[in-house]
Amino acid sequence: TVATIGSSLIPVINKLHDILASSGTELSDISVPQVAVVGSQSSGKSSVLEALVGRDFLPRGCDVCTRRPLVLMLENRSPNSDDDRIEWGEFRHLPGRRFYDFSQIRREIQAETEREAGCNKGVSEKQIRLKISSPNVLNMILIDLPGITKVPVGDQPSDIEARIRRMIMAHINNENCIILAVSPANSDLATSDALQIAKLADPTGSRTVGVITKLDIMDRGTNACNFLLGKVVPLKLGYVGVVNRCQEDINKNRSIQEALAYEEQFFHDHPVYNSVSNHCGIPQLAKKLNQILEQHIRKDLPRLKAVLNSQQGATLLHILRRYCDDFSAMVDGKSPDMSTKELFGGARIHYLFQSMFVKLL
Ligand code: GDP
Ligand code: MG
Repeated sequence: TVATIGSSLIPVINKLHDILASSGTELSDISVPQVAVVGSQSSGKSSVLEALVGRDFLPRGCDVCTRRPLVLMLENRSPNSDDDRIEWGEFRHLPGRRFYDFSQIRREIQAETEREAGCNKGVSEKQIRLKISSPNVLNMILIDLPGITKVPVGDQPSDIEARIRRMIMAHINNENCIILAVSPANSDLATSDALQIAKLADPTGSRTVGVITKLDIMDRGTNACNFLLGKVVPLKLGYVGVVNRCQEDINKNRSIQEALAYEEQFFHDHPVYNSVSNHCGIPQLAKKLNQILEQHIRKDLPRLKAVLNSQQGATLLHILRRYCDDFSAMVDGKSPDMSTKELFGGARIHYLFQSMFVKLL
């Protein structure tokens, strides 16, 4: 699995997010660092995400597999906690139920996809939200999106391409979204759908990372070296090339660990890629992402602090209002509920957190 690369800021921001969310703030009000994958269908988007998470749990394959946006909240649990060896997932639509078996997570993603988008290749813009708690993941939100497709198949409407493009744009237009533009190396990179749609959302290229997949199945005698070095389509944040599992590996249930070992060997043995090793491999991609996320958070700190301040005011108002409600309930002879106490508890955490946050600045 991809080991957590030291970052003190990202867990702090995640904590901030939790606290604001538990105080009733709309999640959309807070910018959480997130990473979305875009590209054409079967370019390897889900494979890249799985490799970053280090677990097998996403539907992937040569047909249309990702049919609803999947929002993955990765939560790094400190290895000191009691159950440090256990990784689990929990779906927003099944609160309180922990999935320890990742193949069961995949089955639930498939079942929940079918509940909303049917069984015949239909797509839906309704998100599936899944939290993954593990000592082996980077702290961030990853978004897996349906791929760009041109020709409607199965139950897909005639305007499928426009619909998917809208769905993708709705996620990557967010200024806090890092875009992983995934292009397969075995098709013409210069006409990549991924780079084209990423550019629409991020014209200056300040939050787009290029990912070239399938380096193992390029036409013999060709390589993606010039592309990786940004000599074909320049990209400020650069490119990383990766080798994920092929369909046969998937059919044979080859593990991510085996795949990562294979990838490392592939780049090591390759006469061209071993000279650009800082542009190659899933571990390099994870490292790059973490650096970018940190920079983003640092830039966003003043704004987050302002949100936190105004939020604290709003929470206090809310508590006062609840207190008045409880008080009049008491006067009316009805017993107050527990909410005032809960809210005060929440406010204390809030306050503690803010002092911690201010110290950071
Ligand atoms: P998505 O539609 O973009 O999410 O693509 P998937 O991750 O579902 O992958 C589509 C197909 O491409 C699957 O059969 C994968 O096994 C295969 N694939 C993905 N990445 C690679 C790669 O780097 N090399 C090879 N040989 N196959 C890959
Ligand atoms: Mg996919």
